[in-house]
Amino acid sequence: MSIVFEEGADAITGDGRQRGLATYALTFLLWPAILAACIYGTWLGFESGHSAIYFNITYLLLALSLFALERLLPHEREWLKNDRQMGADLAHTLLSKGFAQVLVIVGLTIGIAEVAASKGGEFWPTHWPLAFQIMLGLVIAEAGLYIAHRVAHEWALLWRFHAVHHSAPRLWFFNTGRFHLVDTVTSILLSQPLLFLAGAPSDVFIWTNSITAFIGMLTHCNIEMRFGPLNYVFNTPAVHRWHHSRNPAEGNSNYGENLMLFDILFRTFYCPNRRPPADIGIDGPMPTNFTGQFAQPFRRDQAALPVTSGGDD
Ligand SMILES: [Zn+2]
Ligand SMILES: [Zn+2]
Repeated sequence: MSIVFEEGADAITGDGRQRGLATYALTFLLWPAILAACIYGTWLGFESGHSAIYFNITYLLLALSLFALERLLPHEREWLKNDRQMGADLAHTLLSKGFAQVLVIVGLTIGIAEVAASKGGEFWPTHWPLAFQIMLGLVIAEAGLYIAHRVAHEWALLWRFHAVHHSAPRLWFFNTGRFHLVDTVTSILLSQPLLFLAGAPSDVFIWTNSITAFIGMLTHCNIEMRFGPLNYVFNTPAVHRWHHSRNPAEGNSNYGENLMLFDILFRTFYCPNRRPPADIGIDGPMPTNFTGQFAQPFRRDQAALPVTSGGDD
């Protein structure tokens, strides 16, 4: 059964008078329920001693669920249309995720974690309940992710690579991993060592990266959901859609990967009470195929740096 929402600002302001109460409640419950289910799947993995297998199954189920929900409850119907960039999206995702795994494995193998644990381990509050340790891990990783993302919007050299992500003409779960490899590596190098240096135990490390993966895929999904106060805590789809606006005054905001903490602290949080633009992308050249996109940052002709001209809200 397809549930049709009328277009307009009230989709964000939360006017549910013309819709069934159950559907309205569902739109509030979906995001926390899906994230909770993913966390439960990860927890089962730890309990069974097969965290990698359980993570991969959970991630796949998340993708399938979002695919179905995007068709049942789409936020933008236009974004359901094929943009003929699925091959490029998939190739970026596989390359970036594959390389990220190699980097982490190499890091663990050469013992950065062990060295950090032996020095910094004493700083890590291992006596805290695991949930609080994971929250601390998310905040520490977020500091690096926020800086990496903000610099990618403010430094022309890195914007060349980050522009690949922003060139997506629509947002849906499938282009979550559409990042140029250089963009991915920059984020990893600025966030993961912070966790190492803080002496985070490997479980916290895995939990932090798993939750980052879940929130990341949710962030791009094209599902009509409401978030209320969660917008001020997490990088929800509502918040991230503003980040993809063509207008730099709107798009140079919400740099958080998981949390909005640093956006609020550094006044880059932006989530007005209206509908974010459906026409997203960048103003500048960007091929639609993978090899073209991979090579684009090295070309002469570049998309202009999204510079905010006056006004901070
Ligand atoms: Zn960005
Ligand atoms: Zn994005």
